[in-house]
Amino acid sequence: MAIQILDQDTINQIAAGEVVERPASVVKELMENAIDAGATAVTVEIRQGGIGFIRITDNGCGIPKEELPLAFLRHSTSKIHSAADLLTVASLGFRGEALSSIAAVSQVELITKTTDSLTGSRYRIEGGEEKGLEEVGAPEGTTFISRNLFFNTPARRKFLRTETTEAGHVADLVEKIALSHPEISIRLIVNNQNRLHTSGNHNLKDIIYTIYGREIAGNLLSVSEEREGMQISGFIGKPVIARGNRNFENYFINGRYIKSRLISKAIEDGYKSYMMQHKYPFTLLHFTIEPELIDVNVHPSKMELRFKDGEAVYQMVYHAVTSALSGKELIPTASLPEPKVPNQPEVSDQPESQSQPEVPGRPEPFEKKRMEAMGIVKEPPSPYGKEPPVPPSAEEKKEEQLELFDGRLLSEEARKRHRLIGQVFDTYWLVEYDGSLYIIDQHAAHEKVLFEQNFASLKSREYTSQYISPPIILSLSMREAELLNRSIDVFRQVGFEIEPFGGSEFAVRAVPGNLLSLAKKELLMEMIDSLSEEGGRIAPESVYDRIATMSCKAAVKGNTNLSFAEADQLIDSLLKLENPYQCPHGRPTIISISKYEMEKKFKRIV
Ligand code: ADP
Ligand code: MG
Repeated sequence: MAIQILDQDTINQIAAGEVVERPASVVKELMENAIDAGATAVTVEIRQGGIGFIRITDNGCGIPKEELPLAFLRHSTSKIHSAADLLTVASLGFRGEALSSIAAVSQVELITKTTDSLTGSRYRIEGGEEKGLEEVGAPEGTTFISRNLFFNTPARRKFLRTETTEAGHVADLVEKIALSHPEISIRLIVNNQNRLHTSGNHNLKDIIYTIYGREIAGNLLSVSEEREGMQISGFIGKPVIARGNRNFENYFINGRYIKSRLISKAIEDGYKSYMMQHKYPFTLLHFTIEPELIDVNVHPSKMELRFKDGEAVYQMVYHAVTSALSGKELIPTASLPEPKVPNQPEVSDQPESQSQPEVPGRPEPFEKKRMEAMGIVKEPPSPYGKEPPVPPSAEEKKEEQLELFDGRLLSEEARKRHRLIGQVFDTYWLVEYDGSLYIIDQHAAHEKVLFEQNFASLKSREYTSQYISPPIILSLSMREAELLNRSIDVFRQVGFEIEPFGGSEFAVRAVPGNLLSLAKKELLMEMIDSLSEEGGRIAPESVYDRIATMSCKAAVKGNTNLSFAEADQLIDSLLKLENPYQCPHGRPTIISISKYEMEKKFKRIV
């Protein structure tokens, strides 16, 4: 084939491949345009998963009639004028590719009116081909309809999933946008049914309630942090609502939903001592960062973001998370299942909290709504979203983790009024205090106390080295040897004396004193193994962490029979820790059962 320049239609279709992958991408671009246009209300309506029909209506500034055809040209935008503007761009879009791309692969109809003009205009463009431009009566703002997505590119249409799946992607996206813009009222209608409606009243918690439901909304801690050029506000979840994956780690930077490894790492590090391993927190954080401090990469569909000063961002997020978590009493309340009554039909085996009747009129978690949309759960349509979320009742509040600064179990004042009752099952100590029974896991408490003591002494270099003879010889793989070599200083700092012993072998001549009883070859290897999982450089903190974990494990084993006085002292030491509530592995050290809960079980209160 001879070399020739592609025609504009072909160019647009190729470009459209990058911008428009599925209905959700169309919805994303159009919603962003609506937001950029200053809309305070945006309605998204889809049918057939958005493949057949998408309509997005906004009350924004509208597009002047004479600019309409221009808006659909590739690289036409009103948001930047030159590459220099990219550095300070505050709008969501700026590449000017969305409208041309969407119009290249679907049948588009647009009705728009600006404040200044008396009439509105209606513009139609299908597969990149203009079909007409006329004057019509219209309200201020813009309505954008996309029909039959990929009607002219059947090959791409084949890549779409079922309508239900595509609708799910749209719903996910609309949720994210609703969460990122609490100041905009956002409505989603799927197959003629209202699925989400936020009020636009700026209240983020209401939106979290609407989308994630009661349990999450009832277990939030608020976050607010400010540094030069940067600000973080929003909510993070208490550890009880942790999840098994990162899907609930939401954060928005200048109104964009972003994934950033740096921010996720800072969040997870902040939670580390409060959370079981492989659990991830719920977060909903809004970052406001001066545009000069970030570099937004301009890949058509993915948003990459780099910080000018990553360390500062890390520190700020870490601090925001830890300061929200610390100082809160994070003791899970144990809710006992109802005792089964014989000769009575069994209704539910679930803990009460789950079998409580729903309060009428309360918005359902969006998840359920979405299942309904997919025909999995059926329920008559309700005036959903019209009424504000119902505040949690006293009953629900009981389910929350305690968060009382006054009357904290572990405050020094409270300590004096603790009544240590005794031990059960050789493991748990019972303490009565202020209308609650607290149950302390002796092993977990002990581990936590020792861990913190060891960690602190390693950190402040209050260690002793113990020489061992003969030395332990470690035979490592190349990779392990390299890793150890790179971090050998860190090991030395904490009291190891390790020397290269030729090839990939090392001689360990001394170990930290508190590790002496454990200084077996296998344990050292285990440590190097686990460190190597982290790849790259070893941070001193993670070496301290490992050593402290190992040494306290050993100590706890030989310490099962505590006297009252010893238990009392253990509780004392636990009390002094910054986070007494979780053992180093994230298991709870203390749980509580309130008097109220007990009286309910005994049917003294109904
Ligand atoms: P970009 O958003 O990157 O500028 P688009 O192709 O999405 O590019 O849109 C092109 C232009 O059309 C925008 O710069 C804006 O001026 C105008 N526009 C698009 N959608 C709307 C809308 N809903 N309301 C007002 N103007 C709009
Ligand atoms: Mg745009």
